This record gives sequence, C-alpha cells and structure tokens, in this order.
Amino acid sequence: MTHPSASDIGRAVERLRGGGLVAFPTETVYGLGADALDADAVTRVFEVKGRPAENPLIVHVSGVEMARRVVSSWPGVAGALAGAFWPGPLTMVLPRAGCVPDVVTAGGTGVAVRVPDHDAAVALIEAFGGPIVGPSANPSGYLSPTRAEHVRERFDEETVLVLDGGPCRTGLESTVVDLTVEVPRILRRGVIDASLILEKTSVEVDEPQLPDEPEGAVVSPGVLGPHYQPDAPVELVTDIARLSARLKECTGRAVLLSPPGRSVRVQPPHEAINMPGLASGYARRLYAALHEADAKSPELILVVLPVLKDSPVWEAIRDRLRRAAG
Ligand code: AMP
Ligand code: MG
Repeated sequence: MTHPSASDIGRAVERLRGGGLVAFPTETVYGLGADALDADAVTRVFEVKGRPAENPLIVHVSGVEMARRVVSSWPGVAGALAGAFWPGPLTMVLPRAGCVPDVVTAGGTGVAVRVPDHDAAVALIEAFGGPIVGPSANPSGYLSPTRAEHVRERFDEETVLVLDGGPCRTGLESTVVDLTVEVPRILRRGVIDASLILEKTSVEVDEPQLPDEPEGAVVSPGVLGPHYQPDAPVELVTDIARLSARLKECTGRAVLLSPPGRSVRVQPPHEAINMPGLASGYARRLYAALHEADAKSPELILVVLPVLKDSPVWEAIRDRLRRAAG
C-alpha cells in the first residue's frame, strides 16, 4: 500500500492554501481537491475538468464536526446515516451553510458532503484544516481515476499535484442521498443501497429504478445519463453467442472485458481482460480495466454485462457500465 509521507501532505496543503489543486486518493476514486470555501479555487476545478457549471461538487470533510460547518441544519437522519456509514462511500445532500460559495453547489440550496474512508484523504483535510471539494480527478465525462497514474495521464503536475495513495479500494463513486426532501432519496447508486441503509439505520430512502432517466427525473445534474466513458466506444453484450458474433464483425481490434470470474481467450488482433468474479473485486478493477482497454486505442470495447448477479454492488457496476456505453 502506497502512503503519502508527511512532507507530501505538507506540499499538498501548501498547494491548497495557495488556491491550487491537489488530486487525492479516497476509497472510491481519486478526487480533485481544492479549498471548498474559496470560490476562485473551486472555479479552477470546473475549468480544469471541463465540468459544466450546473454539476455541483461533493465537499469532503474529516468528520461530523466539519460537516456541520458547511450545512445549515443537521437532521436526525443525517446523524443516523453518518453514524452508520462515515467514514465511507455515502454522500449526503443537506441544506447548505452561508460559508459555502455558490459555485460549489451550482447555485443550489443543498450541499453534498461526505467523509472519505482513506487515511491520506483525512490526513490531508485535517492538515489543511477545512473542507475540500473532491469531484473525480478526471476530465468531465471520462472514466473516473482509481490510480494515481490515471490522474497523471490526464493532468500535468503543475496544474494538479497528485498525492499517490495506490489503487482505490472500492473503485466506484459514492452513493449520493438527498436529505433535503421529505422522503430521502438516492440520486446516484453506489455500493451502499437502500436496503443496506434500512438495515443499518431504519431510515427509508427511495431508490431510482434501473434503467433510470424517467422523464424529468434529472434532479441531480450529472448523475444521470452517459458518463464515465472511455474514448473508445463501449458495447455491452449479455450472452456469449452475441459476443462471438460481434468479435467476428469487428474489423479492427476489439478489447473484451470477460464475464466475472471467467477467463476467456480471443484470437488476435482482439484482446481480452479477465475480470474478477466477486462484486467487490470487479468494482475495484472496473475503471482500471477500462483505462487499460482504452489505452490500446481499440475500435471497440466489448463488455459482458454481469446480468444474473444480484446485489447492490452489482447494481452499481451495471449502472456505471450502462453509462460507459452511453
Ligand atoms: P463527482 O464529483 O464527479 O463524483 O459527482 C458528484 C455528483 O454528486 C454530481 O454529479 C452531482 O450530481 C451530485 N451532487 C453533488 N452536489 C450536489 C448537490 N448539492 N445537490 C445534488 N446533487 C449533488
Ligand atoms: Mg465524476
């Protein structure tokens, strides 16, 4: 496990204090950090990512006490969810406090906040002494980074200082829950789903049905629709017969992500990447595998969609795969 040193953290804090940007590891994906209370620094995050201004950012904090500084109310459900899932991959949207600049929330009245479950991320926030925004450290729309080199491939060190904490453990972005509405609801799927929330806290939350995007359902800009996409087109297939047919039709190189836990061999020029069988392993590997596939500049990335797997993590995996395929 790679650990940033105290002097790495010190350099990163200096960068943040100067209004600059630092990519930092979390358990989900690498975040693009900037002082959450400095509107100019946050604006730079949008510029560097090419992120649409209407897509708000998640504020990363080191604990409940710091979270309470960026919200104007802390309802009982927030306490219950934080108690059960923080630090961890659960983001809560709560009424924002006056100190949070407009640019962070895209002008909205809610602010998204979470405590990452990663020592280096928490050490960075604590050493900085305040909240930092942390959208995924990728150009907007592209695959999320789960390794330091994914960030370095896309941004130069002068623009974004990278704190290397090794590969991310979870590998999928956090679940986002809106607590500003009467019945809390999930805005973005992640490894924590409604049934787990109910089990651990007795809090009932609404969950979007998949495939999502019913008319007018875009309540949280950026969480619906195509996203997390490699440069090469991604096509999802659900059965092996269809897969063989597509490989034959493909005149250039196709890169295949295997069915979970099954190693497959393909004829050149095609290539295969074997995917883990367990949901947690598959999730951890997913973006790195897509980055690897994309680096081969293939005509097509074919993914065997894990269909018969039923768990929140598999649901979140299918959600990201559907978005990768647009
Ligand atoms: P990313 O930072 O790229 O992982 O994306 C974070 C996602 O969280 C955004 O795309 C938003 O949809 C959602 N989000 C962040 N802040 C808010 C907010 N204030 N209200 C609703 N959704 C939010
Ligand atoms: Mg993102």
